[in-house]
Amino acid sequence: MPAYPPSLERLIKHLSKLPGIGEKTAARLALYLLRAPGDLAESLSASILEVRRNIGLCSKCFNLSDEDPCHICTDMSRDLGVICVVEEVGDLLALEKAGAFRGRYHVLQGVLAPLEGVGPDNLRIKELLQRVQRETIREVILAINPSAEGEATATYVAGLVREKGVNVSQIALGIPMGGDLKYTDAVTLRRALDGRRESQ
Ligand SMILES: [Zn+2]
Repeated sequence: MPAYPPSLERLIKHLSKLPGIGEKTAARLALYLLRAPGDLAESLSASILEVRRNIGLCSKCFNLSDEDPCHICTDMSRDLGVICVVEEVGDLLALEKAGAFRGRYHVLQGVLAPLEGVGPDNLRIKELLQRVQRETIREVILAINPSAEGEATATYVAGLVREKGVNVSQIALGIPMGGDLKYTDAVTLRRALDGRRESQ
């Protein structure tokens, strides 16, 4: 490892903490930023601070947003009686991009993973049940990624929602086991949603 000046070393160390960035890439990025043309370094640091300051979670659906409630929750042209439950914001964005769904969402912020210490209290399940109780909801669609943890989470959530007397459906297969909504094409997503079936 070459001995860079301490401030450059610090930048490399910080960049290498980002997901998917090893030390080599971090060094390359740091050297690039050092010499980058125009005001890239200044704009980059300013936008990092800006998103940290302004972007938060919608207090209703837990989507990322710079307003609270988010623009989806306040959009009265959407079907207010249907909630689509997803694992994370990336899944919501994929469904939105596909134009697959015109109701509102609820982002669980993960799936149950007991081995990693993620239990029901770590997810936004309680908040979903409150919404189901307070709002006039006729259907909850579970669009949780098909993994072992995802299936277990879907079954768990379905049981609780059904106890509140609301219909629960699950998006159709076609998204393969281990697949991820985020990386699924728009046609498959629309089909999965159209072909949803009542949850077991
Ligand atoms: Zn929202």
